[in-house]
Amino acid sequence: MPTLDLFGNPVAPDEDPALSPYERIAALIPPESPLRRMNTLDEVARYVAETVLIPLDAQRLNPVFGTGDPNADLMVIGEAPGADEDRQGEPFVGRAGQLLNKILEAIHFRRDQVYICNILKSRPPNNRDPLPAEIEAHLPILYKQIELVRPRLLLCVGKTAGNALLGRQSSLASLRGKFHDFHGLPLMVTYHPAALLRNPQWKRPTWEDVKLLRTRYDQLTGHTQAPPHPSNG
Ligand code: URA
Repeated sequence: MPTLDLFGNPVAPDEDPALSPYERIAALIPPESPLRRMNTLDEVARYVAETVLIPLDAQRLNPVFGTGDPNADLMVIGEAPGADEDRQGEPFVGRAGQLLNKILEAIHFRRDQVYICNILKSRPPNNRDPLPAEIEAHLPILYKQIELVRPRLLLCVGKTAGNALLGRQSSLASLRGKFHDFHGLPLMVTYHPAALLRNPQWKRPTWEDVKLLRTRYDQLTGHTQAPPHPSNG
């Protein structure tokens, strides 16, 4: 039975507060998409590897699906694979990836404790920005990943990923520093590590963002950090 609003009209599933965030996000996948019927990440990865949704999918060396803990409480979402990722078929393995690993380590996550993926699963040539039509075609894959991994929190690195999920066209400065609501899941946007390599002065605000993220993660998961050793004060 669909939930009805004040006027007796059915509430759209992606906005229905009676549904879990994962059900609401799954409702964003077009009804005709084969993704609707899939139940495992392996099945989705195979579909991505075998299907040409956009011209980039026919030009790539490898699809770049996702990596990390398939049951992670934190999902990190980037923009699109670069040359290193295209060669290796894994997200964030180049220089930006090394910096992402360091950022995660600074808030006490190993790379394999989170799930890392991108909006686009195929590399755009010369690292150009993804086109709106490319984002629209690949976003349902990400919705499916969120439905299956069931993270408690989302971290978008870069404004392209943040704007794609939030349906906005905002500056990074206006997106960062706070949590957004993504169909019931808290979503933080911070600087992309590739931007930090070019602009080290943005490392401090990134650190502020990821500290907030870690605090919220600990609250949501009931995780408590080990107390400081007595001899360390
Ligand atoms: N930049 C991204 O946004 N994603 C990657 O996987 C690598 C670089």
